[in-house]
Order: sequence, then C-alpha cells, then structure tokens
Amino acid sequence: MTELICIGCPRGCHLKVDEQNGYAVSGNNCPVGAEYGRNELTNPTRVLTSTVRITGAIHSCLPVKSSGPIRKALLMEAVKALKDVEVASPVHKGEVIVRDIAGSGQDMLASRDM
Ligand code: SF4
Repeated sequence: MTELICIGCPRGCHLKVDEQNGYAVSGNNCPVGAEYGRNELTNPTRVLTSTVRITGAIHSCLPVKSSGPIRKALLMEAVKALKDVEVASPVHKGEVIVRDIAGSGQDMLASRDM
C-alpha cells in the first residue's frame, strides 16, 4: 500500500494505492484522484513549465508549458532541450515553440503573448 496526496486540486485528498489489488485507489473524492493514484505508481507524468530565451521582447525569457503530461523519465531531457532554444518576438500564446519535446509526443507552447 502506497500513500499519496492528490495534486488534482487544492483539496489534496490523501490517497492509498493498493499495488497488490490492481492499483485500487481509496481516499479520493473524485475520479481524478483515482486516475492520478494509479498513474503515479504505474506511469508517472507531469506537465512541464519552464522558460526559453526570447529576443526583441520586453522580457528576456518567455514562459512555456507542455501541451500535455510528459513521462517523468523524460523531464530532465526535456528541460535540457529547452536550454538552447531562443525565439524572436512577436510570439503568441499557444504558439508551438518546440515540437515533440524529448520525443515525448508533447509540444512546448508559449504561455503568453510577448
Ligand atoms: S481526488 Fe479529486 S477532490 Fe481530491 S484532491 Fe484529487 S482532484 Fe481534488
């Protein structure tokens, strides 16, 4: 049995995941928690937020966010790939900055206009 705190919303339900019983989840107050608990022990993922360099804008860094969850095992590789990215202003919110970051199947998108 593994105990986790759900990150699905501010309520922070205390979950118990039973690995011996098909990763059955208890303690969740909604289906999001059940899915989170199961995935956290079988295929943990995170949405990646970071920044890339931008030229010609009011700031030197552009905030970016992955288009969906990325496997935790790929996160460091994705962060390293962003280190060398530089874009030029103007950039619009939702614009694809990097396609298929670290082979994750997710794109990195601009989080704001700049
Ligand atoms: S189980 Fe549902 S209600 Fe509880 S923290 Fe997760 S998302 Fe929020």
